[in-house]
Amino acid sequence: MHIAHALAHAHDLGVDRLDAQLLLAHGLQQTRSWLITHDELPLDRRQQQAYLDALARRLAGVPVAYLVGEREFFGLSLTVTPDVLVPRPETEGLVEWALELLPSAPGPGVVDLGTGSGAIALALARHAPPAAVVATDASAAALDVARGNAARHRLAVEFVHGHWWAPLAGRRFGLAVSNPPYVAGDDPHLLALAHEPRGALTPEGDGLAALGQIVAGAPDHLIHGAWLLLEHGHDQANAVRRLLHARGFGKVSTRSDLAGLERCTGAAWAPQG
Ligand code: GLN
Repeated sequence: MHIAHALAHAHDLGVDRLDAQLLLAHGLQQTRSWLITHDELPLDRRQQQAYLDALARRLAGVPVAYLVGEREFFGLSLTVTPDVLVPRPETEGLVEWALELLPSAPGPGVVDLGTGSGAIALALARHAPPAAVVATDASAAALDVARGNAARHRLAVEFVHGHWWAPLAGRRFGLAVSNPPYVAGDDPHLLALAHEPRGALTPEGDGLAALGQIVAGAPDHLIHGAWLLLEHGHDQANAVRRLLHARGFGKVSTRSDLAGLERCTGAAWAPQG
């Protein structure tokens, strides 16, 4: 089997062409552009078997990011394992919003709650130095992945273990961001996401529990005037705006993602007074 044939075979099986190229390039330790210019080269038996195994796992729903062990987010190549959610491009919008707000943040310190692979925290550390970035996660295994990513990119982030605000007693920040689990527990969408850690995707119930806990605890951890930015489901913007208003936040606003879906809602802590 040569490279062109291997890619055609993936197409016949129903594997997306980009996915197949990424899997084959990873197996051969080459780039996608190398594949395209060397598509006459034959695969040896071991390469071919590894590739067919990867296609089978992809067809079983395993994300490409887990099969190749990494995913790019906001220009950073991040190691990802099944202990962390695969970073999504929608979440880059949250980072962009945070980067817009940081220059006028009312005080130092940015916190990313539920950092997973470290994607948001590391993007902020890379693009907004010298902001002091703190990142939490309730999963020790996720924090190991995030720490590895920080080391890989030589970025300084303080990682702390615990649920939402719990490990941050007595600490206040000039900006807080989070992409918490927000999918409803009975959302059929979860079936297609079965390879990712369920706890990173859903808090169970209606999907609002983690967002609610973060909003509830935020006033004890935000400097006066600091913003809280939250990613949420496309149909949760109203609920999140209500939570923020009810807790006393002001300047409540929502931004849409590239698909035009309401994806992030943010607010400033008690700016009205
Ligand atoms: N955006 C993800 C999805 O629906 C969910 C991520 C999350 O729950 N934070 O695929």
